[in-house]
Amino acid sequence: MVTVRKLEDLKREIKKVKANNLSIGFVPTMGYLHDGHKSLMERARKENDVVVASIFVNPIQFGPNEDYEEYPRDEEHDAKVCMEAGCDIVFMPQASEMYPDGFCTYVEVSGLTEVLCGAARPGHFKGVCTVVTKLFNLVRPDKAYFGQKDAQQLAVIRKMVSDLALGIEIVGCPIVREADGLAMSSRNSYLSADERQQALVLSQSLNIAEKLVRHGVRDVTYIRNEMVNHIGTAKSASLEYVDFVDPNSLMPVEKIEGEVLVAVAVKIGKTRLIDNKVVTG
Ligand code: AMP
Repeated sequence: MVTVRKLEDLKREIKKVKANNLSIGFVPTMGYLHDGHKSLMERARKENDVVVASIFVNPIQFGPNEDYEEYPRDEEHDAKVCMEAGCDIVFMPQASEMYPDGFCTYVEVSGLTEVLCGAARPGHFKGVCTVVTKLFNLVRPDKAYFGQKDAQQLAVIRKMVSDLALGIEIVGCPIVREADGLAMSSRNSYLSADERQQALVLSQSLNIAEKLVRHGVRDVTYIRNEMVNHIGTAKSASLEYVDFVDPNSLMPVEKIEGEVLVAVAVKIGKTRLIDNKVVTG
């Protein structure tokens, strides 16, 4: 495994791979890697000749009052996880390498980015789409792997790749959870032991939704109320949204018919957590 930090070094490595006609699977991340990230890398390992991972806490996807400075970082641990997962090339740039002075070009997907997390985090997806486009241009992957954990991000990237004809296959990967159901996230490290327990209301509320749908309930308002009530049992929880949307267009639905993405965002204390589940009516 080679680790590169400079754009020029990454380009040189990719050129060698392309010269040998090898396929590239790419896994972009912000590091502080856990088994969710690792599952993406392992999937990429199975499906490609060469696996490239990036570890970059992207400053332009954080709002001014968000946790860019506090975001957890551990390069040594991350390198070990990448190695175990069989990555060939790891790209770990500095922010100044990705955004040199004078950088002023951005990629924006409209519509899809204005709902769910986009409503509470203006500019977030513009930052994500810009960095992912730049990374795609550097890595030139055949396939890129994204987690269903960030369902909106996955839908936005799919749309961007389609609209701009980037010619990259986007592979969505299932959410990896802790044994008790909490979706793995680098931000879980912010939680105190008590908050960690309370954070279970996210996955539990999604299980409630799934169970109601299985028992034939189709009315979104009813299911939403049950979920909100459950989330309210956690004393440090403040609800941002519980939304029912089409998994591709992210347009709201009023009845459970076909596949529906149930997405939740909740703050537990100061930590903003998201989770989701696709239910089928
Ligand atoms: P992040 O480092 O949080 O930006 O995540 C990098 C990639 O890993 C994104 O495609 C995420 O959706 C994915 N990811 C994060 N957490 C999980 C998880 N628990 N299960 C599956 N994929 C995940």
